[in-house]
Amino acid sequence: MKILVTGGTGMVGTYLKKVATCEHDWVFVSSKMYDLINPDAVDEMFSSIKPDMIIHLAAVVGGIYKNMKEKVKMFHDNVIMNENVLHFANKHNVQYGIFCVSTCVFPANPKAFPMTEDMIVDGLPHSSNDAYAYAKRMMYVQCKNYNNECGRKYMCVAPCNIYGKYDNYNLVDGHVVPALLHKFYIALKSGEKLIIPTGANSMRQFIYAKDLAKVMVRMVENIDTLTFDNLIVANDEVRIVDIIHQIAACFPGVQYEIIEKEEGIAKKTCSNRLLMETFPDLTFLDMNHKLKKSAEWFVNNYETARK
Ligand code: NDP
Repeated sequence: MKILVTGGTGMVGTYLKKVATCEHDWVFVSSKMYDLINPDAVDEMFSSIKPDMIIHLAAVVGGIYKNMKEKVKMFHDNVIMNENVLHFANKHNVQYGIFCVSTCVFPANPKAFPMTEDMIVDGLPHSSNDAYAYAKRMMYVQCKNYNNECGRKYMCVAPCNIYGKYDNYNLVDGHVVPALLHKFYIALKSGEKLIIPTGANSMRQFIYAKDLAKVMVRMVENIDTLTFDNLIVANDEVRIVDIIHQIAACFPGVQYEIIEKEEGIAKKTCSNRLLMETFPDLTFLDMNHKLKKSAEWFVNNYETARK
């Protein structure tokens, strides 16, 4: 099978390249090769690559601050990219697709915790990321439309917070883990005390990008037998405060203080029951160990890391 992966230069795309199995022909593309905002470029991408399956990872992605300050771009670019990819995938008769949504697009006040796959469009998303959330939700709805009207097999994957090497370590635009790693690195170099605002009871689920990439490969291998339209990929929930202490341990000597300030949603617990029922032998890499590896990678690649 020929598999086209958009977002091939991003964090998840880079890990997918590493774990991709050799029985398939994988083609990873970047925005320089094909700007997915441009419909002509997307049409050309499908006509020249002729894939049997699309894995659509490309997106405008960011942490809470980027989501709050760039709502117009987050909505516009993601809606246009997703629509272009879906429209031309179907037009070029691409039968299979895996499309990346996110657990952070689930309702802010769900009827119950943990949230399950079917709750993705249930209620209002949190106001801090509603633009990104609605764009992703529309992609989920449109995948189902193509399945129902055109007989396609387009399914969504909803990962929790992803972390790993090759992340975006920007202090403002990055997600919580890479932004914290960067802040600790700066504090280590400057000797200044780090003040970190967070909610004492804020909880999140995290997954190492390589674990997510492995799930995607398993989905590819089993695509004909999978019957769901959305799959939550999440690990156990942890307190953000505990993650801060773990990251601090990667930067011995840095003085830091956590101050109480809830900036986003306190928790968005999602169930991984369907994931574990589908792939019962699935295991997750140890977060403490992988945080250390991500910190080491960032320090060693500081000059070239995305920041
Ligand atoms: P990255 O920010 O690391 O990578 C984004 C990718 O999208 C890059 O390869 C980039 O290409 C590509 N891209 C952006 N704009 C365009 C465009 N106009 N045309 C073509 N390609 C474009 O993202 P991640 O790897 O972290 O995320 C992968 C997927 O997972 C995304 O769909 C994201 O929404 C989802 N997700 C991410 C989470 C996270 O915590 N990171 C959590 C949950 C879901 P280039 O580098 O060439 O510009």
